[in-house]
Amino acid sequence: MNVAIIGAGINGLMSALELSEQGIQVHIYDQQQAGLEASWAGGGILSPMYPWRYPQAVNTLAKHAKYLYHQWNEKLFPITGIDFQIQQTGMLIFDHNDFAQGLAYAEKYNEPMQRCEKISQSKIKNINPRVSKNLQEAIFFPELSNIRNPRVLQSVIRYLQKQPNVQFHENIKISNLIPNKDEVHAIQDHNQNIYFHDHIVIATGAWSAEWSKQLNIQLPVYPIQGQMALFKTPPHWLPTMCMNKVMYLIPRQDGHIVCGSSMKDIGFNKDTCNDTQKNILAACFEMIPELQKFPLIKAWTGLRPSSPHGIPYIGQLPHLKNVWLNTGHFRNGLCMGAASAQLLRQHMLSQPLIEDPTPYSPNQLYI
Ligand SMILES: Cc1cc2nc3c(=O)[nH]c(=O)nc-3n(C[C@H](O)[C@H](O)[C@H](O)COP(=O)(O)OP(=O)(O)OC[C@H]3O[C@@H](n4cnc5c(N)ncnc54)[C@H](O)[C@@H]3O)c2cc1C
Repeated sequence: MNVAIIGAGINGLMSALELSEQGIQVHIYDQQQAGLEASWAGGGILSPMYPWRYPQAVNTLAKHAKYLYHQWNEKLFPITGIDFQIQQTGMLIFDHNDFAQGLAYAEKYNEPMQRCEKISQSKIKNINPRVSKNLQEAIFFPELSNIRNPRVLQSVIRYLQKQPNVQFHENIKISNLIPNKDEVHAIQDHNQNIYFHDHIVIATGAWSAEWSKQLNIQLPVYPIQGQMALFKTPPHWLPTMCMNKVMYLIPRQDGHIVCGSSMKDIGFNKDTCNDTQKNILAACFEMIPELQKFPLIKAWTGLRPSSPHGIPYIGQLPHLKNVWLNTGHFRNGLCMGAASAQLLRQHMLSQPLIEDPTPYSPNQLYI
């Protein structure tokens, strides 16, 4: 079996990893260098922010993926020399309006990952002495982790490049899927070159709506821009992730702190914006005032693949029996990526599924 994966973000690359480990021949196509779009730009929090605000289908994949990332890192690190740097820093959430829901969610689902307690200032100070004195209460999720997403991408790419059954085709935009009755075996690039494959996986992130017309479906996956800022502090300076009003700080092991993020519906525009940056920094300094002393290293944006409820489409298109989707992960593609890919692989190889696939089914695209 020979599979073309279109799109080399976290979802395409993890799908390639899952399939290639089963001995499948995998060809990965990207219109640019692999791993440079949303999956590079994201923050890498390994849970939906405010999980109670998301459908359970999103949380379920995130729960599986956290363990899968640990397993993949154990396997890949000795071979690639690149550690994913999964850090269980825990997260403090300061939004008062979410306290009751957060606690209720933790109690209802009783998952170790979403264990949560309400704490007051003296305990906040013990857990994270950098937090502003003005923030007197929080809910604390001690088991929330973050992953250094650019490193995950680098490690997976390096590992896949070493595999004899994997081939990368970078800087190749796939423009056409050429159907033959109820299958697609030929795909065509922007230079009219044609490639033949047994199966096609669409993992094109924010660009996915572009397939709607060709595939005769409504694939509502569009770009929503998010902006980030990066600070450099001494290693381990900020002990936990912090979140307030949908703005967050994510500490990395070496002292880098990622701050984000905005949401803008402005098409495929990746320009950074000074006003947005001011908003992000103001929200982050409100949580951690001392951060202002440290240098701002850089700012960037990325294009999230938004979908109506943030639930990705994972599975086969009913009218094209060898075309598969793994796209539409919106704000949670990193935290769901490893599990989405596993679910896709299980579908494609008719293996037992980790989860009920119904919420992710592409069947809904025909309604
Ligand atoms: C600022 C920001 C913060 C975020 N923070 C988090 C977080 O903390 N936790 C979390 O879980 N998620 C987070 N996300 C969301 C997450 O990054 C995305 O959901 C995820 O990266 C999507 O991965 P993907 O592989 O589907 O898309 P992408 O990484 O965008 O990859 C799609 C790839 O497809 C390629 N492509 C598109 N069309 C074609 C074509 N026709 N031919 C060939 N190649 C093509 C593109 O070049 C691209 O490389 C964040 C996103 C942003 C922008």
